[in-house]
Formats: sequence, structure tokens, C-alpha cells
Amino acid sequence: MGLRFLQALLFLSILFFFPANLLVYSSNEDDPAIKTMEQFSGFATHESQSCSASALSVDTESLQRQIDELSTFSDTPAPSVTRILYSEKDVLARRYIKNLMGLAGLSIREDAVGNIFGRWNGNDPEIPPVATGSHVDAIPYSGKYDGVVGVLGAIEAVNVLRRSGFKPKRSLEVILFTSEEPTRFGISCLGSRLLAGSEPLADALRRTVDGHNVSFFDAARSAGYAQDRDDLSSVFLKKGSYSAFLELHIEQGPLLEEEGTSIGIVTAIAAPASIKVDFEGNGGHAGAVLMPYRNDAGLAAAELALAVEEHVLQSGSIDTVGTVGILDLHPGAINSIPSKAHIEIDTRDIDEKRRNSVIEKIHHSAITIAKARKVKLSEFRIVNQDPPALSDESIIKAMEDASEELNLTRKWMISRAYHDSLFMARVSPMGMIFIPCYKGYSHKPEEYASIENIADGVKVLALTMAKLSLK
Ligand SMILES: [Zn+2]
Repeated sequence: MGLRFLQALLFLSILFFFPANLLVYSSNEDDPAIKTMEQFSGFATHESQSCSASALSVDTESLQRQIDELSTFSDTPAPSVTRILYSEKDVLARRYIKNLMGLAGLSIREDAVGNIFGRWNGNDPEIPPVATGSHVDAIPYSGKYDGVVGVLGAIEAVNVLRRSGFKPKRSLEVILFTSEEPTRFGISCLGSRLLAGSEPLADALRRTVDGHNVSFFDAARSAGYAQDRDDLSSVFLKKGSYSAFLELHIEQGPLLEEEGTSIGIVTAIAAPASIKVDFEGNGGHAGAVLMPYRNDAGLAAAELALAVEEHVLQSGSIDTVGTVGILDLHPGAINSIPSKAHIEIDTRDIDEKRRNSVIEKIHHSAITIAKARKVKLSEFRIVNQDPPALSDESIIKAMEDASEELNLTRKWMISRAYHDSLFMARVSPMGMIFIPCYKGYSHKPEEYASIENIADGVKVLALTMAKLSLK
């Protein structure tokens, strides 16, 4: 009897409860019954539509074709890719991306330096959007995945979400950043630095020329940008313009591939500081000047190079690194004591204070060494000193949840190379998703990521954006 009664009750509830609510739902969106439905199903039924991992499918064939097609806009033969800022090939690549953005239903905007934005309006278009993006410029003779995966992958992530029936609450935006690579004007992450409001850069660009003496503004205008010659302030974004910024990128290191891990969740981006140092001594004949009477600028530089290593090793963290990549001696003859030495130092860390304390120690050593060797420290110049960035905790959580729901193996990692995300972190909470690449190769033609790994990254990106869009 009890069972029968329950069956009857279930039948009655199916008959009356659900249709009643569905009727109310279709006639009045504000009815509290909708809330009941939403709680019951776990899905928002009338506005923003949430997203389940199983509904996400990447069109790997199209995505691979797009990666291959984009790689043909190159100034060097395949498999290498060379795509320099504002060159004819860069303009063609931009057109190709804008076309794909249009096909994905995104509304497109370009700023004065050619950062390109494609927006999918959410149900609440007034609140800050969730953005994602990367770059498509390529240094000479590099590969076809660096940056590209984060642009084409982002557009495909939008397509994936649309196909799944997802409806964003916050708008979603795909960004193509101008000139992440420093090839043409010597400035890396030019577009994202300006978005982050770098007034010194906007000012310096007025005087910046490339190796052929073409000014930045002439080059930009030839590509259809920078109509207002003097003012780049329109490019600056206000802090809080986005609720979150994500970047999908190949790891450019070997760890994920070696460990067979699908997804790298970036917790911090290390930032470099570069320093130029010059020592000057008296030089002299390699035979005639006896050792006690020398002031050898070359040895001062060599000693400073060793001091860089010592200070870095003493920082107490494996994340501190330092490199002397340039050491030039003048006059550069075997039988002449170096009268001038020029060295360039790159030091990086994810902890700004620790990195800056290494720089201070290097400076102190330079002064001490110059004194001891009776040479002149004619220059000690910190060329740039970008602050590192930490990923936002709620974004890390969203990336982790997304990977978990997609059943993908993942690990936390640090980005040792820096990306547009480093600068976007100044205007928005930030997170990065890494995928494995072949042997960690990057910036060379052998750079490769499998479409399966890329598709995993695209899914994590799509699901993370979906989660953050509903927040
Ligand atoms: Zn890149």
C-alpha cells in the first residue's frame, strides 16, 4: 500500500508540478517557480546558461586547418614562420583572424596600435567581461604555435561554447595583442603594455624607429592604425576593465610533455630585469704591461659575471635565475689588455622583492670590483624592471575545476617566459593555461603541439571562461 501511494504521488507530481512550472516559466520570467526549476536542474533556465564539460566538443579539423593556414602568412618558407609587426604578412594574418572572429559572431573593435578585440555580448553587457587572447606575430624563423594557439584556440573556445548552448552572463572577449615579440621595435608585449597604461612607452614610441629607420607611427599607419599621430592614450584600459583575463599558450618548456600531463595551471609569471654594465680601464700591450700595473676591464666584467651567479644562487629560491648573455671586450685583440668591457645581465624571478635585492647586490659588486681592480664603472643601467605577476586565486580555482570536470591531468607551474598576461595582470585578475609542446621547443620551426593537446587546452579555456562569465 505504501509503495502504491508513493507511485501515485510521483505520478501526480509529474502530471501537475512540472507542467505548471514550465507554463509559468514561459509566461513570466520573474516567477519564483523559475528559481525552483533552476535549483532543481542546476541550470539557469531563463538567462545565462551554464555549461557542462560533456557538452564541449572542439572542431579539431577546422582548428588544425586554421593553424596551418595562418602559418602561410610568413616571410620565410615553411615550416618556419616569420611574421613581423605591421608587415604585409602581419596585416594579412590580422585580416584572417578578424574574419574568423566575424564567423564566430564576435563584434570587432581595433585600437590605435592594432590590438584587436572580438566580443560576444553576454546577458549583462554592462558588467566587466571575461577576456582571453594572445599574439600572432612571430620572430624570424620560428614556429606556428607560439601565441597562435591562444588566439585561434580562443576563437574556437567561443565556438565550442556556442555549440554547447551556453549563454554568457558577462560578455566574453577574444583579444589579439599587437607585437608580443620585440623583433621590429625592440619592445616586447608592446600592445599589452599600452593596454596596461604605460605612458612612458606611449611617449617613447614617438621617437622609436625600426632597423630601417621607419618610425613606429609610419609603420602603424601603413597597416591602417594610429591615425592620430601623437596620442596613444586611447589604447589605455582602465583597471577593472575585465573581470578576468586568461591566456592559453604552449608551455615552451619540456615539463608537461615529459610527465605526460595535459594541462599546466600557471600560478605566477616570472619577470625579467635587464642591466647593462660598462667598465673602463687603461688597456695596454699584453706583453709589456706587467700584472701589478694592469687595470683590466675584461677581468672586472668576468668577475661581475661570476658575482651574478653567486648572488642568484644565494637568493634561497630555485625561481631566481640570472644570465650574462653578452660580454664584449674592446679592442678585442689577443695581444691587447681589454680597455673596455660591456656586459648585459638578465635576471628573473616570480618574487619582485627577491629579484630586486639580487639587482642591488649585483650593483654593489660592480662598484666593489671596479674599486678593487682600479677600473671605472662607467655605466650601470637597469634597462627594464617589470614586476612579476601572480595568477588570481579564483581564476586558478576555476581552471582547476574545469580541468577536473574534463578529466584532464594537470599541474601547477610557473611561467618562466613572460607573456601579454604579465601586463594584463595590471588591469585585470589573470590566469594562464599551458599545454604540452614537443620537447619544449619554441621560437624555431620544430615547434609543435598536437591537436589533441590543443583541443584539451581549448576545452579548459572554454569551460573556465564559462564559469567566470557566470560569476
Ligand atoms: Zn608567445
